[in-house]
This record gives sequence, structure tokens and C-alpha cells, in this order.
Amino acid sequence: MKTISKVIYEPRNILITGGAGFIASNFIHYWFKKYPKDNLLILDSLSYAANINSIKPLLKKKNIEFVQGNIKDYDLLTQIFEKNQITDVINFAAETHVDRSINSPSIFFETNVIGTYNLLDRFKNHWEINNKPNSWRFLQISTDEVFGSLSFEDKPFSEVSPYNPRSPYSASKASSDHIVKAWHSTYGLPTLITHCSNNYGPFQFPEKLIPLTITNILKSKKIPVYGDGLNIRDWLYVEDHCSAIDLIINNSAPGEIYCIGGKNELRNIDLIKNICELVDQFAPKLNIKLNHNKSLNLITYVDDRLGHDRRYAINSQKLLKKFNWEPKIKYEEGIKKTIHWYLKNIEWWMPLLK
Ligand code: NAD
Repeated sequence: MKTISKVIYEPRNILITGGAGFIASNFIHYWFKKYPKDNLLILDSLSYAANINSIKPLLKKKNIEFVQGNIKDYDLLTQIFEKNQITDVINFAAETHVDRSINSPSIFFETNVIGTYNLLDRFKNHWEINNKPNSWRFLQISTDEVFGSLSFEDKPFSEVSPYNPRSPYSASKASSDHIVKAWHSTYGLPTLITHCSNNYGPFQFPEKLIPLTITNILKSKKIPVYGDGLNIRDWLYVEDHCSAIDLIINNSAPGEIYCIGGKNELRNIDLIKNICELVDQFAPKLNIKLNHNKSLNLITYVDDRLGHDRRYAINSQKLLKKFNWEPKIKYEEGIKKTIHWYLKNIEWWMPLLK
């Protein structure tokens, strides 16, 4: 298929869903800095996982608008597409926490499946009314978790790996990917899908492993470790995810799929120990007093997560070959930046804790 490369940059009107969440808020900062003339319409239901403060300074810009609303709301989506000449959709909105999906699966299917369907359907209608522009894109932000779990010896996932979701979260994300693929094959809708590994960085809700560990240390609370702690995740600094999305949405033919990884596989227990040591080093330098001696002593092994995937790993060769994309921020740098951010932005995360 032909690769579309834009030589002269024309401002885009991008609908960004889930824009007050972790990755999308980082993406909005990234995008505005790089493409300050683009019009961004941000849609977010402001669920528990959102924090509008992550993007608040940008909402004063005349070309950035925020709408509080739900991707399940068909009428609202109809209005949004009628009133705004949207050229691209990037769908970050989702329920994302695996533990919550195990305890309360239904909302995962409502948002991740029905919500994505509604968005696709309304975008398709808008795209057809506008004579099917070939340069428009619908980018579905998927996850590596749709491919299931690897053993320690298995080769990393790639774009051709079979789907094998094992948690309610990954099953809901897999379902939405299938709908996106069907809308491309059946209607020719110019869609793209990305499968990224675990992201880390600023603005992540403190229920996810890295911010949970940092914020528990700062509150001298136990740090829970599932099972034997030997589960492996591949970690990518969120800004590198944003730069990959930038290349993909600007340069890919409709229907393309990409795997985005950090080339940085870590065992959970090693990651947690590293965070403990770094917080112990950094906190005194920032005049933050910890009410315990050694953070390593806060580590507590707990019963394993049901169906806990053992290992994720990603082969990003397609991105490397096509765009020369590789993660720029090494783990050693990224984790320090992230810890510093949480130490310096206590007012961002403290109100989110119950
Ligand atoms: P997040 O939970 O931090 O943010 C999700 C955002 O979506 C929140 O602001 C929430 O309010 C919003 N939202 C939820 N339901 C909504 C609805 N029905 N309508 C409108 N908005 C709604 O998630 P994240 O970690 O930033 O993940 C963003 C996307 O990236 C998700 O699709 C996720 O599956 C995918 N992803 C995440 C990771 C990761 O490591 N965090 C890795 C790969 C893929």
C-alpha cells in the first residue's frame, strides 16, 4: 500500500478521547508543542482515572477545546461531528485497570467496546458525508495485552501475533480492535491500530504499578507485590509512545497496525526495588521526610492477580524499519524523571487518593 507523506503541513482538527487520562494528557502536551496550529477537541467523561489538572494550562489556548462527555453517548458524538470539521480521531478513552476489570467487568465492555463502536460509527458517517477523504485517520490506541501472555523463552509479540486476551480488560480491548479492523475492511474507513507496551511517566493515576509504588513509599504504606514478583513487563517512557503515534498518524496508509515497545523488559520485583532505592535517595534532597528507614522494607508479597499474565514483550522492528523510531529515553533516565515528577507534584496526586 502507498505510504502517505505530508510535505506541507496542513492544520488538522483532531478529536482526542480520554484526554484527561495518563497517556492522552501527555500526548496533548507533546502535540501542542510540536503542532501548535492544530485544533484539538478533547472529549473525556472525567472518570475516576482522569485529572483535568494534567491539561488545564492548555485549555486556555484558543485552538484547544474540552468537552466533558462519554464516548457511549451517541447523540453527543453526532453533535460533535456535525459541529466540528474533525479530520482525525485518536481514541485513548478506555477503562484501563486490569484489577478493576476482574472485579467489575461490565463497564469495560460498555466503554471499550460499545464506546469504540459508537465513535467509529459516527466518524464513518462524518467521513462519508465529506466524500471519504483519504488523508483522515481513526487511530485506535490498543495494547500489547490483547496478545496474551508469553513464557520467558517466547519471542516478543509483533503485528502478526495471534490475539489471545486473558483478562476482562484485554478481552474488551481485543473486541474493540476487531471492530476497528472490520470497519476498515468492510467500509474502507481509514483506520490505524497501535499496540503499545506498559507506559510510565507523569500524570499516571496512582493505582498503576509505578505511581502506586512511589506514592505508597511517600505515605510509608506497604508496597504490594503480586505472587512471586517475577512477572515481566516491557516499559516505555510515555513521551516515546507519543513520538511513535506522531510518526504513525502522519505517515501510515489506512489499515496499518504497529507494535510499540520499550526494549526494556523488567521483572516487577526488580522495578519496585529500584524505585525504593531511588526514592530513598531523592526524597531528602527535596526536603521530603519519609516516616520509615528503608523503603525496601515496605515490600509485601500478596496473593497473585487472577489469571496474571506472566510476560509481555514487544518487537518494534516495523517502526524501526519504516520510521527509524526507537525509544529515546532509556529506562534509567525515564524512571528518575518519573520519580522526580511525583515527588515534586504531590498536589497533583494526593487528592486522587481515597
Ligand atoms: P487512563 O485510565 O489513565 O485514562 C483513560 C481516560 O479515558 C480517563 O481520562 C477517563 O476519564 C477516560 N474515559 C474512560 N471512559 C470514558 C468514556 N466512556 N468516555 C470518555 N472518556 C472516558 O488510561 P491510559 O493509561 O492513559 O490509557 C490510554 C489508552 O492507552 C487506553 O486505551 C489503554 O488501553 C491504552 N494503553 C495503555 C497503556 C498503559 O501502559 N497505560 C499501554 C498500552 C495501551
